[in-house]
Amino acid sequence: MAMAKELLKNAREKPCTLLYPFEKTAPPEGLRGKHVFVGEKCIGCGLCARVCPAFAIELLGGRGPKMSGMKVYLGRCLFCQQCEEVCPTGAIKLTTDYELAVLKQEDMVLVFERKPPEAKQPKKE
Ligand code: SF4
Ligand code: SF4
Repeated sequence: MAMAKELLKNAREKPCTLLYPFEKTAPPEGLRGKHVFVGEKCIGCGLCARVCPAFAIELLGGRGPKMSGMKVYLGRCLFCQQCEEVCPTGAIKLTTDYELAVLKQEDMVLVFERKPPEAKQPKKE
């Protein structure tokens, strides 16, 4: 009898589950997802790659002015946010984008280009 009552009660209620990916909930505050990179802000110091405990960041072209960009290997990333915390210019940040499913392994690598700010032109007199 108790079972029948429970069944009737549940039959009248809405399902608790969502039809993902057609329905989504807002990610909770503080969720650590995919990275974004602002190439203009990056000074090429390499601290993000140095602190990464999972060796998930590869600097392209070396450190400093030679650095042309970076790769972030999401398959290795622990989403610890240390790269963001150590970055002195706020060039790398984690977003709340948690949708990481891909069909090919190479799509688990984020490739970012670094765009150093244009050198200031001397003023003409
Ligand atoms: S979030 Fe952590 S593991 Fe992922 S790239 Fe940044 S420092 Fe490395
Ligand atoms: S993203 Fe930040 S920590 Fe990483 S190399 Fe650029 S400035 Fe340095």
